[in-house]
Parts: sequence; structure tokens; C-alpha cells
Amino acid sequence: MPGLNWAARWLTSPLTIPGKQVIMLLVLMALIWPLLPLLLRIQRWEERKQLRTSYLAAGHCPSCDYDLSAQPKQPDGCSLCPECGAAWKISI
Ligand SMILES: [Zn+2]
Repeated sequence: MPGLNWAARWLTSPLTIPGKQVIMLLVLMALIWPLLPLLLRIQRWEERKQLRTSYLAAGHCPSCDYDLSAQPKQPDGCSLCPECGAAWKISI
């Protein structure tokens, strides 16, 4: 494969080491850069999940902080928030 031969020659060429390191660092950054938004989204998703869990553990609606402890449970086990209309499964 011509591309791999070129890469093998480039890697074994007597190019100065700092030049190779800079180019390889740029290639690595170009490969990792598109993953950063995904990693940030995963981090935000985990933070929101923890926040939602803490609201539900306190018996409050995670959307509007309405106290759901006095709300009757629906047949599916969820409690409807009268303030915002969201349904939450609270395990108190
Ligand atoms: Zn609500």
C-alpha cells in the first residue's frame, strides 16, 4: 500500500526529531479534537444525572423543584408534577 510505505519511510527518515514530534503531535491533536465535544457532553450528562437523582431523592421535581411528596402515584409508579407536568418515578 503506497500510503503505508510513505508513512514508514517518513517515520524512519533522518528528519530532525523535534520536527517529527511536532508533526505527530499535530496529527494526534487532529484525531482527538473531534472527540472533545463528545467528552464534554458525556460529562454534562453525568452531572445532570446526579443533579436529577438528588432532586428525586429529596422528593422534588428536577425540572421545577416542586415538592412531589404529597402527589399521588400514577398506576405506572410515576408522580405527576402539577407545576410543570413532568412525570417522575420517585423511590422514597
Ligand atoms: Zn415540575
